[in-house]
Amino acid sequence: MSTILRSNITGFQMPTLLYPTSALAPAISQATIEYHYGKHLQAYVNKLNELVAESDFEEMTLREIVEFAPEGPLFNNAGQVLNHSLYFEQFTPTAPTNNHPTGALESSIKFDFGNFDTLRKKMEEAATTLFGSGWVWLAQDETGKLNIINCINGDNPIRHHMTPLFGIDVWEHAYYLDYQNRRADHVKKLWSIVDWEMIESRLNM
Ligand code: MN
Repeated sequence: MSTILRSNITGFQMPTLLYPTSALAPAISQATIEYHYGKHLQAYVNKLNELVAESDFEEMTLREIVEFAPEGPLFNNAGQVLNHSLYFEQFTPTAPTNNHPTGALESSIKFDFGNFDTLRKKMEEAATTLFGSGWVWLAQDETGKLNIINCINGDNPIRHHMTPLFGIDVWEHAYYLDYQNRRADHVKKLWSIVDWEMIESRLNM
């Protein structure tokens, strides 16, 4: 599970990147990871710490802020810190060829979508057609069912009483250096680097 460390002195910390910045290429280039993790996420973390210090949410966890903060800059930045912490943690440079979900996650996908190919096509379609900036999430609702949901800007499934499992970032900063306007090409490449064991560990059993 994503661990966001928070200290009383320094506030929310950057999540650890579990692989070298060059390790996800060619699906995601070193330059994109350096900007996306090193610049964009760092900026969200900095802004969140600045905003939370002057808010009533100082004692809350990141997930509580995302769930309960009113619409506005604090929620936007907290949402993006949580989104990106889950995002960078869900990829691995050592995924097998023919990478696919296994175990309890595979069973749930079969039950709710029929098969993995259908899930993949539906997520690609949602990611390609989402207008503007946002995220497409595979998320588990309170009954245990898996859903594909669109989240605008920094929104997260937690806000909708769902558990975020796997998120596709469709903000242009996630792919523009490598794919320019070809968002669909970017999304198709992501399947080769998904860490399905990590995603499965996020399931509420
Ligand atoms: Mn992003």
